[in-house]
Amino acid sequence: MRLLDLLLETLYPKRCIICRELLDYGTKAYTCSKCAENADYAGNVDYIAEAEKACGDRVYFDECHSVFYYDYVKSAIEHFKFRNYKNDAVPLAEYMNRYGRDNDIFKNIDVIIPVPVHEKRLKERGFNHAGELAKIIADENNIFYEENVLVRVKNTKPQYTLSYEERKGNIEGAFEVRDKDKISGKRVMLVDDIFTTGGTVNECAKMLKMSGAVYVSVFELSCSSALKKENE
Ligand SMILES: [Zn+2]
Repeated sequence: MRLLDLLLETLYPKRCIICRELLDYGTKAYTCSKCAENADYAGNVDYIAEAEKACGDRVYFDECHSVFYYDYVKSAIEHFKFRNYKNDAVPLAEYMNRYGRDNDIFKNIDVIIPVPVHEKRLKERGFNHAGELAKIIADENNIFYEENVLVRVKNTKPQYTLSYEERKGNIEGAFEVRDKDKISGKRVMLVDDIFTTGGTVNECAKMLKMSGAVYVSVFELSCSSALKKENE
């Protein structure tokens, strides 16, 4: 172990990303053995059917993957997103990278972009959590990363707080593509942290397809645990 690492670990002991228990000194693992054993990986969810059901719109993305069911990573996501621990992106993106490589989902992808947050929310949080994940994934897999091509022009309410009727109006027109040349003719991977109803990513995919994207693959850190019950 390098001296600097040793010093940092003494000052900031590593904690399990899932349950925040202290980890063994010098470990390379991101989770404790108990959380590693109980990892709740997302199963064969039919995301396209789910989005069709929930959005009442055509589905514009071509494929979708999630690593975990949300309940398993809930506290990790909250810590990362709402308590502003930007460095949590490193272990969380590592889980996405591992899944992506094991399932060969990065091949043929030309550009990775995050689901954007509205400027107002960006100011509150200081960073776009999806962007932090997407940046690491793009970097590790030698794929172009574009942060400001897809922008959120409407500060929407979280979709899960709304009724079926309200959702469509809430998300419609929320996104814009700023630089079509960077999207046109490209196979795009859209990165986000939670797939709930698919409304947000579907609206993003719609804008990307309208701007000439030939393929849109959605990659999520997690999907709603409600989808587990339906698909088992
Ligand atoms: Zn743990």
